Amino acid sequence: METVEPLYVRVHQRDNVAIVANPEGLPAGTSFPCGLELTEAVPQAHKLALCDLAPGAAIVRYGEVIGHAQGSIARGSWVREEMVSLPPAPALDQLPLATSVPAPLPPLEGYTFEGFGNPDGTVGTRNLLGIATTVQCVAPTVEHAVRRIQAEILPHYPGVDGVVAITHTYGCGVAIDAPGAAIPIRTLRNIGLHPNLGGEPLVVSLGCEKLQPSRMLEGRADVVRLQDEEHRGFAEMVAAIMRAAEKRLAGLSQRRRRTFPASELVVGLQCGGSDAFSGVTANPAVGYAADLLVRAGATVMFSEVTEVRDAVHLLTPRAVNLDVARALVREMAWYDDYLGRGSADRSANTTPGNKRGGLANIVEKALGSVAKAGTTALMAVTAPGERVRAKGLVFAATPAGDFVCGTLQLAAGMNLHVFTTGEGTPYGLAMVPVVKVSSRTALAERWPDLIDVDAGRIATGAASIEEVGCEIFRLLLELASGRGETWADHWGLHNALALFNPGPVT
Ligand code: CA
Repeated sequence: METVEPLYVRVHQRDNVAIVANPEGLPAGTSFPCGLELTEAVPQAHKLALCDLAPGAAIVRYGEVIGHAQGSIARGSWVREEMVSLPPAPALDQLPLATSVPAPLPPLEGYTFEGFGNPDGTVGTRNLLGIATTVQCVAPTVEHAVRRIQAEILPHYPGVDGVVAITHTYGCGVAIDAPGAAIPIRTLRNIGLHPNLGGEPLVVSLGCEKLQPSRMLEGRADVVRLQDEEHRGFAEMVAAIMRAAEKRLAGLSQRRRRTFPASELVVGLQCGGSDAFSGVTANPAVGYAADLLVRAGATVMFSEVTEVRDAVHLLTPRAVNLDVARALVREMAWYDDYLGRGSADRSANTTPGNKRGGLANIVEKALGSVAKAGTTALMAVTAPGERVRAKGLVFAATPAGDFVCGTLQLAAGMNLHVFTTGEGTPYGLAMVPVVKVSSRTALAERWPDLIDVDAGRIATGAASIEEVGCEIFRLLLELASGRGETWADHWGLHNALALFNPGPVT
């Protein structure tokens, strides 16, 4: 039998736990060169105790307390999820605000991409016709029309990259004037005005719905209303949508890619199906790419409130000023309240897959998650569904659920998406390229036709964080220019939009 060198990954010198790196895990009795011996088998990505831990002792990973020992934990044993108590989240009224703002990193000059300039000054990475909808009632009709447009009209306009039906489950049967309704409505407005749709959608409305086109887009679009007297039957409705689409396609097909500085990129970062490697491989590599993008003048947004909440004390000091720090605290407090109203808290975030992947709780998950944010100053904070205007690192508040976060990042204006995953997901979006980065090589090898970048090489020393970060940065510039494709686009894996509606349904 081949002998395998046992390997664990310790992130910070203060850590008293480490995670097993070997893909098959390690058996009881394994001896490490440092003298540590495993008292029991430990699976890959799961934690082992580096010293004896007394009951109540702090368990430290990433240099931070991720919980306290429930009972004694002997050196060399497997630190299972149930042995780690969940500590309280950092108090929001005692955070250091803008106390340690990172100095700007040296600018990166000369990086460009080929994009589509829009009248509002934004730049698209794709040239798509978007057909927005005010209400779910019209969604299947629009999807029917889009299939016909793709088959019968789009081939005549090769300068257009595609046609996207922007369908959703909102628009009627909701308390449209309740405070929470502002979020889905502005989300739909900002997605309609997305840079990859030329900044102007075609809108299909039913007619009697609560969310009228004027309210959704403030009068800024062509509208086809299915209940209008002129449409006699389904065939005429579809024909009206197709005529309006052809007019828009003729305009869009005149557009050509031009060279823009990398500062016009708006990159949304998120993770899904995280594991204990996410915070040491994929997320730090993405964080390094985030720093490169910020140095090139781009906008980089991270999101997912419940995956930031337990690391917020590491982020408020990095806010560029008190206003930005307070806005971050405001979004955390809003979400605490939102979860509280549903009799839940941040501990509801972790999934069975997270736990199988070695994550004991939301604190450990959050500490790994925020590595995506790199090291630069936090320049702005936006509420869910708002458009991001700032350059540099931005926190765009969203729930952590992948499709909801992706939808809100689209509304924020992202024109590229980077998605890190430990357990794996075939997730993708129709409107922007989605680059999937695996935290482990085993996943990249099992899913070679779904994972775009393997960051698992960092755990084994086959690549450095900087190397993988540079690879992601270069790949983003290529994809933004319409060169190459992600695996999600290769297979046409485009998840449905999922609106965040904290308002009541009637
Ligand atoms: Ca997520």
